[in-house]
Amino acid sequence: MCLFTGLSARAGHWHAAGQAGSLPGWIHADAPLMSRKLYIRTFGCQMNEYDSSRTADLLARSHGLQRTHDPAQADVLLVNTCSVREKAAEKLFSEIGRWKELKSARPGVLIGVGGCVASQEGAAIQARAPYVDMVYGPQTLHRLPQMLDAAGRGARAVDVSFPEIEKFDRLPEPRAEGPTAFVSIMEGCSKYCSFCVVPYTRGEEFSRPFDDVIAEVAELAAQGVREITFLGQNVNAYRGAMHGGGVCDLAELIRFTAEVDGIGRIRFTTSHPREFSDALIEAYAEVPALVSHLHLPVQSGSDRILARMKRGYRAQDYIERIRRLREVRADISLSSDFIVGFPGESDADFEASMRLIDEVGFDNSFSFVYSPRPGTPAAAYADEVPFVRKKARLARLQARIAEQAAALSAAMVGSVQRVLVEKPSRKDPRQMSGRTENNRVVNFDAAPALGGQFADVRIIEALPNSLRGVLVDAPAAARRM
Ligand code: SAM
Repeated sequence: MCLFTGLSARAGHWHAAGQAGSLPGWIHADAPLMSRKLYIRTFGCQMNEYDSSRTADLLARSHGLQRTHDPAQADVLLVNTCSVREKAAEKLFSEIGRWKELKSARPGVLIGVGGCVASQEGAAIQARAPYVDMVYGPQTLHRLPQMLDAAGRGARAVDVSFPEIEKFDRLPEPRAEGPTAFVSIMEGCSKYCSFCVVPYTRGEEFSRPFDDVIAEVAELAAQGVREITFLGQNVNAYRGAMHGGGVCDLAELIRFTAEVDGIGRIRFTTSHPREFSDALIEAYAEVPALVSHLHLPVQSGSDRILARMKRGYRAQDYIERIRRLREVRADISLSSDFIVGFPGESDADFEASMRLIDEVGFDNSFSFVYSPRPGTPAAAYADEVPFVRKKARLARLQARIAEQAAALSAAMVGSVQRVLVEKPSRKDPRQMSGRTENNRVVNFDAAPALGGQFADVRIIEALPNSLRGVLVDAPAAARRM
């Protein structure tokens, strides 16, 4: 099914429409580069955050734009949208409604809408918000510099096409911002779950070539990055072409990444259970740098609901994969995604999800009440479960997982954890803050020199959102006496 509504969806093309106008002040060749400001508002997941930061890098290189956190200061205002769950369009229009006033006050200001809502609602955006200058999709953000030039001349630039891979080739070299970094390795989804909009807004699965990914990892490691998180909507569906021929899967990519000098930790998110291969389980057995934490969305514990969702596995298949994984990594902590109140979910179906949670044991979840996404098959399913009941189920599920997470934190007290030290703690600048393998924040007394290094920390207290610890092993210069 095609969800495009009247926009140019031709691969490899973009078009600009509208009246040619005078050059706004910000784009004038004589304007000092440092004075032009870019504001980006991001909705959605880590993939969207990643796209926003690459967009900022791109426009810094092409137009010298400097990022600001104040929309009133900005010459270019961009919103990077997400339509995975409800209210995406409403959130977008309320944000850009405020920007319309900023633009009235400063007519040179340019407004752009990107991301999944732009893919899906491009025509509606043009009709409802004619003051928007640029509309671009997740796969065309690399063309923003040309779109910005066109918009600067008074044209409206629209491109929500899916020109495969081109995006990755045109983005600037990565810049490290601390010891951890995201590296996007694949985009899109070809699973077509009945509830999900991603295949329509981001396109089908497409993997970056292996050599490009490794080159980016090596570049980041050379800049001091110690932990890499591979990103993709179904990151474990990665199949990257290799320079010398052949295709590399995620397990193999992890092995190569662990060999890059300086890389001590590897994470990946978000995965699909159908792609959770034996090769990946072997990687957990053999690659110590692959962290003992896995995010593996299950969505439901009811086979009937999983079939209606078109997930392609049963609850027992999921449980069995986790059992195999724990054979090689007994201490692995797990997080998952759940959709509660999918159309037709009975009390018995929901209890099956609760049983799965009890059997597997989770450390965290991204769990939401089902929201119908326009154009997806499930949006047409009859849905008789009252919303209040769905909310009550969600609250029960989240409370259960919070209990499990609290028990896990409490069990960590007294243990020594390897922590990647990131930055001074927000609450106490005499302390440093870092993360354990299972992604918990730990605060402990240490000198700022420890930033960017691994340290062994004994956990002394479990708080609701973090842990407290004491340094047991670190380079002498980094200890706080
Ligand atoms: N690899 C993941 C998987 O296995 O499904 C895909 C992640 S998906 C992009 C992000 C999450 O958003 C999903 O896991 C799901 O829990 C949630 N989600 C997607 N569509 C939804 C909908 N219509 N209503 C509620 N939650 C939804």
